[in-house]
Amino acid sequence: MRKKIVAGNWKMNKTLQEGIELAKEVNAKVKGLNASQVKVIIGTPFIHLAEVTKQVDPAVVSVAAQNCATEVSGAFTGEISAAMVASTGSQYVILGHSERRSYYGETDEILVKKVARALENKLEVIFCVGEVLAEREAEKHFDVVKSQLVNGLFNLSADEFSHIVIAYEPVWAIGTGKTATSAQAQEMHAFIRKVVAEKYGKEVADNTSILYGGSCNAKNADELFANEDVDGGLIGGASLKAEDFSIIVAARAKH
Ligand code: PEP
Repeated sequence: MRKKIVAGNWKMNKTLQEGIELAKEVNAKVKGLNASQVKVIIGTPFIHLAEVTKQVDPAVVSVAAQNCATEVSGAFTGEISAAMVASTGSQYVILGHSERRSYYGETDEILVKKVARALENKLEVIFCVGEVLAEREAEKHFDVVKSQLVNGLFNLSADEFSHIVIAYEPVWAIGTGKTATSAQAQEMHAFIRKVVAEKYGKEVADNTSILYGGSCNAKNADELFANEDVDGGLIGGASLKAEDFSIIVAARAKH
């Protein structure tokens, strides 16, 4: 059975002190929901990880980094390795976010290395895919997403792939307030599951959690999560408010 997941991506927001407060608030609100069937994850900046993992109940909230290095260790000034992330007690890492692909030049080749480092360190990977507006308008969105999956992930064995969560995030919907329709989300999620099944078989595909991301909020989460292939959400802006984030978790628990 695949997991229902609601993951927050705080991006470059919150000082350490603010982040600790937010994590505590999220933990308290989610605990109160009794939503034990939903895996709740918060993706914080690197510097928050070690402290935030101590502040949350691991049975209620798991913690993710938003990136990790391609290399194992050494002279890579400013980089943070997957081993360092794991040493904080974090269990997840978000990789391939469109902001990293577009602002920091993360290619499929770079992502293959980052995924490998993450898995070597027993981190679960939330791997983001998604098309830009021009690609959707040119009806290339299925090709783009398939190519990101094939080139970024399909070197993995089926066993390794079982540690991957996929997040479909149409780039035109991220931080824009413009959400994919429920039908557009379901259509792409079903397509992703089909592509995974063609590579790894139906059982692996059925066990793969596929999250929707892109202006998912307290108002539209319910409708998005009602879709069969939408297993949860990767939430940016709305994860910065504990109240909104917990409403999204409750929406996921409901279906
Ligand atoms: C994201 O960046 O992963 C995201 C989904 O952002 P937002 O919810 O703000 O669109």
